Amino acid sequence: MLTRRPGLLVALSVALAAIVLAICVSVLLQMRQDAAQRAQDAATNLLLLVERDTARNLEIYDLSLQAVINGLKQPGLDKLPPPIRQAVLFDGSAMATHLGSILVIDVNGNPIYDSRSESPRKISVADRDYFKVHRDSPNAGLYVSRPFIPHLSSKSPSIALSRRLSNPDGSFAGIVVGTLRLDYFHDLFDGMKLGPHGSMALMLADGTMLMRRPYDPNIIGRSLLHTANYTRFTQAPSGSFYGTAAIDGVERWYAFSHVTRFPLIYDVALSTDDMYANWRHRAWIFGSIVAMLDVLIIWFAVLFSQQLRRRTAVEAELRMLARTDGLTSLGNRRALDEVGPKEWRLARRGGQPLSALLIDVDHFKGFNDLYGHAAGDDALMAVARCIRHGLRRPADHAARYGGEEFVVLLPATSLEGARLVAESMRESVQALGMRHVSSTHQVLTVSIGVASTEHRNFADLRSLIDAADAALYAAKAEGRNRTMLDGATESRAMEGEPVPPSAGKSTKSDVNPS
Ligand code: GH3
Ligand code: MG
Ligand code: MG
Repeated sequence: MLTRRPGLLVALSVALAAIVLAICVSVLLQMRQDAAQRAQDAATNLLLLVERDTARNLEIYDLSLQAVINGLKQPGLDKLPPPIRQAVLFDGSAMATHLGSILVIDVNGNPIYDSRSESPRKISVADRDYFKVHRDSPNAGLYVSRPFIPHLSSKSPSIALSRRLSNPDGSFAGIVVGTLRLDYFHDLFDGMKLGPHGSMALMLADGTMLMRRPYDPNIIGRSLLHTANYTRFTQAPSGSFYGTAAIDGVERWYAFSHVTRFPLIYDVALSTDDMYANWRHRAWIFGSIVAMLDVLIIWFAVLFSQQLRRRTAVEAELRMLARTDGLTSLGNRRALDEVGPKEWRLARRGGQPLSALLIDVDHFKGFNDLYGHAAGDDALMAVARCIRHGLRRPADHAARYGGEEFVVLLPATSLEGARLVAESMRESVQALGMRHVSSTHQVLTVSIGVASTEHRNFADLRSLIDAADAALYAAKAEGRNRTMLDGATESRAMEGEPVPPSAGKSTKSDVNPS
């Protein structure tokens, strides 16, 4: 069926290409979602790890501070020799690389004891936020300070973890404070794989930035309080969202988490560009292959359908040629055999008369002998033209029946109508005025026999044509160059009684030889 409908073939190929494309798009979308999911899972795991690591380290540090507070409660502490006192106070304190010294500070902000030195250095922390917080509030608990540059030793930015010392009556007795260099977080962030545009940050719960990757010293201490991202960080203990960084304007996927028990917030952010970079690369390759495949499918279908169209046209041409008489271009015997039975059935079904003309060139043998076969052929073509011009309706058919004989079928035409058509054809042949000296009429003429189903029943088409042939025979016998009606038909029309076809009646015999 498809081979007969090239248009449908192309439509199907387009549909197929569309399906392939749709599958490709859905697979790519799935791959994209998977890529995002993988990246987000990895980032979430990372966040969880750093958050737990930080919480554990700070907890250990806090335990050290509490050990110092407990040590301070030992009676007679200040009477102990300094090395023993150092051991009592600071034995349990953490000595990790990023931890600074632990100091015991008096009510005026001056160090009394120092974990790194038996004689505390002369500095004052009275201006530090952590000192003021504990002095002003007995319930600050473990306080994580804002970042600052320490007075002591290293000058790298640090934060302080501090606890208040209270007298038995609850009044302020100073603080215990330990510092933690922010380099610790810098190093922690450094080893993480976050993609070229990923970022990671640690901030205080109040929005103060402590450390960020990519690292920029100027960012430390900056407040994010009024940024959209910070607002979202504060809305849940942990979560994720898409947002744009206030610091660099890059669109990222954020996962954030508050550090358990500490006023700190971590975020890990992956740039959406990085997240989809690999996917985009694969999507390009995959998409291009599928697009090419689609183009190929449609291209092949179009080529194939063009071939089909060409073949169909050639077949139609051959069919037409097979039904056409080569000399006269009228239908041939085969065409008549096809169209005849069809018209016969249509006429039967429609109750319409079908008429037939049988046309034969007069004395044509003599014409050939006199003027040559080629001139005979020309004469046949001229006669065919007269016959074709004599046809009046699209449904009328003319065919070369044999040598110089022609048949014309006239559907839905009465005997009288058929006679008129025959006469006009006969007259136009005569009017050609082709010289034929051996003919009694001096010019080329035709004789025509006419039969119709209008007034007479025929068993089949064959008998109708036979009747026309009998009428033609009668026309020849009457002297040629005339149209004779099937005698039986005519007689029945006029008298209501059948007569043999040989008694057909001539409708025209006057001849004006030229
Ligand atoms: P009648 O008036 O009785 O029909 O005489 P006629 O000579 O036409 O009769 P006949 O049927 O004996 O002759 C037909 C001739 O037509 C025979 C043949 O030479 C010629 N003829 C048949 N086909 C062709 C053709 O294709 N080309 C040419 N040039 N002549 C043909
Ligand atoms: Mg003949
Ligand atoms: Mg003849």
